[in-house]
Amino acid sequence: MNKKSFEISVIKTNAPKQKPDVTKGLPFGKIFTDHMFMMEYASEKGWYNPRIVPYAPLTLDPATNSLHYGQLIFEGMKAYKTPQGKINLFRPFENANRLNKSAERLCMPEIDPEITVSAISELLKLDSDWIPTQPGTSMYVRPFMMATDCNIYLPPSETYLFMIILSPVGHLYNNELTPMKILVENEYVRAAKGGTGFAKCAGNYAGAAKAAISAREKGYHQVLWLDAVHRKYIEEVSAMNVFFVIDNIVVTPYSPDSILDGITRNSAIAIIKDWGIPIEERPIAIEELAAAYDAGKVSEVFCTGTAAVISPIGEIGWKEKQMEFGSGKIGALTQKLYDEMTGIQTGERPDRFGWVYDVG
Ligand SMILES: *Cc1c(COP(=O)(O)O)cnc(C)c1O
Repeated sequence: MNKKSFEISVIKTNAPKQKPDVTKGLPFGKIFTDHMFMMEYASEKGWYNPRIVPYAPLTLDPATNSLHYGQLIFEGMKAYKTPQGKINLFRPFENANRLNKSAERLCMPEIDPEITVSAISELLKLDSDWIPTQPGTSMYVRPFMMATDCNIYLPPSETYLFMIILSPVGHLYNNELTPMKILVENEYVRAAKGGTGFAKCAGNYAGAAKAAISAREKGYHQVLWLDAVHRKYIEEVSAMNVFFVIDNIVVTPYSPDSILDGITRNSAIAIIKDWGIPIEERPIAIEELAAAYDAGKVSEVFCTGTAAVISPIGEIGWKEKQMEFGSGKIGALTQKLYDEMTGIQTGERPDRFGWVYDVG
């Protein structure tokens, strides 16, 4: 199926749900809209039967292969309604391409990015009344793909289901610009070289949960992962990439195999370069960070990811050491980056990089 032969059939719901009262605040990722997109894949046919239907539970055979072996991938992006009433997506082709990178790694079929983006666009247009417009709110878009062969042979499957669901969201945390406390994880690892760390595949997150719980029990919000071989080089935070400002140079880890290549990371790097601020993508050891901290050289630490966009880090715990940054306040560069990035995404600031995709 190519873009030309791609026609989405639409069955509208006859029982629209009650929309949330956004003035009371929106939880993250718990509310879903009236419709969903789905299409199937079979090796002899390719992708077929693209359709938008009322949001409803799936009926799955208990032997559905992905339920057993985790051949499951996903994406996440946000849509905004602009002050002019248009729907914006932020760099959706980057997500569509990354979905294909994840698919390739897990032996799943790729989807023409034009098709992915047009399916997202059609669904957003149909459920556009659900897109919240209060500051800090947006529509989270969740495409995902799963293996659907009904057997318990090892992967890969020969049949797949691709779906898109939409969730109106508020801030990921109550106030995303309140600095987070993160704990360096010394026992568990998230991703090894040669593994699936660069793919957005379901199993990565199941494997990470135990460390997150233990960090929370110690009073931290998230985990900072180290590399799996040396337990030395900083990788990323839960589902966000990490940046440090050391001696007025922005430094972010580089490890293409084991960290997720974040689109927010990528965009932050481009903006920082454009501002003429020096930035380095390179391995950074936790010992280097600690030494720079002791020398008073670390002025800001922040994370990037679709859900929270830019989040300041106020504290990092590493073994017995507690490092505090910015005395409980968001750093100047972190704030500036948050304002610029969200400004571009919502259409309130000029789209200097051509990142905004106009859904219509
Ligand atoms: C999705 C994700 C990110 C952030 O990627 P964005 O494209 O910026 O949303 C970072 N790390 C992990 C592990 C992720 O799953």
